[in-house]
Amino acid sequence: MKRKGLLIILSSPSGAGKSTLARRLMAWDQSLRFSVSATTRAPRPGEEDGREYYFRSRPEFEAMVEAGEMLEHAEVFGNLYGSPRSPVEAAMAEGRDTIFDIDWQGGQQIRNSALGRDVVSIFVLPPSIAELERRLRSRAQDSDEVIAGRMAKSEAEISHWAEYDYVLINEDIDRAESELKTILTAERMRRDRQPDLAEFVRGLNREFAAR
Ligand code: GDP
Ligand code: ADP
Repeated sequence: MKRKGLLIILSSPSGAGKSTLARRLMAWDQSLRFSVSATTRAPRPGEEDGREYYFRSRPEFEAMVEAGEMLEHAEVFGNLYGSPRSPVEAAMAEGRDTIFDIDWQGGQQIRNSALGRDVVSIFVLPPSIAELERRLRSRAQDSDEVIAGRMAKSEAEISHWAEYDYVLINEDIDRAESELKTILTAERMRRDRQPDLAEFVRGLNREFAAR
């Protein structure tokens, strides 16, 4: 029997480092799947359709929602974002864990869905607001106006920190990465997530009986 895959939800204010952490986690464990979201926002330089996001028009996105193809969806920074359902269900059935880089609204929707039992949610905080702004600027991918908009939304995103199972402060990236690996390792070892344990212990008991 295989364990069901976990849904690992990473949220943070924009620029706190969740994409960087997700990338590092996936380099560490190649069996992890990243949930590629659909969005109506324009691609940034270097972003590819189907890799970072599925870039869709608003009517196309709304049709996906109508058809029930989204596990969750929300409006963020004036654009629609959503997590396609079918790849997640396929991964869960295969016993593969999926990482979501989604905002607090998406986190709430998945946690409150039928899949809530299989969710591990992690909130990433920046060490300070000054550092958050520095990181957004150093990423050098957004205009001053877009950066100001993201900074303005940060306080609201951070206000949801207490809804998450785990909270980590991303000061040193290596340390944050190692904390994230620790969380995932422990969650996978929970008794109720190891369906083969009862059979394993029966084997130990047979060994006792045979002594
Ligand atoms: P960045 O994450 O700040 O670099 O900017 P993005 O435009 O890529 O994402 C903006 C926000 O939308 C971030 O808070 C993401 O976590 C969030 N987001 C991305 N995909 C989804 C999704 O499928 N659902 C929801 N609810 N939020 C998403
Ligand atoms: P998010 O996905 O949360 O918007 P990113 O992962 O894109 O954030 O990180 C924003 C910027 O900050 C990137 O340029 C990234 O390289 C940098 N960064 C991430 N974590 C750290 C850290 N611990 N220390 C310094 N810079 C960081």
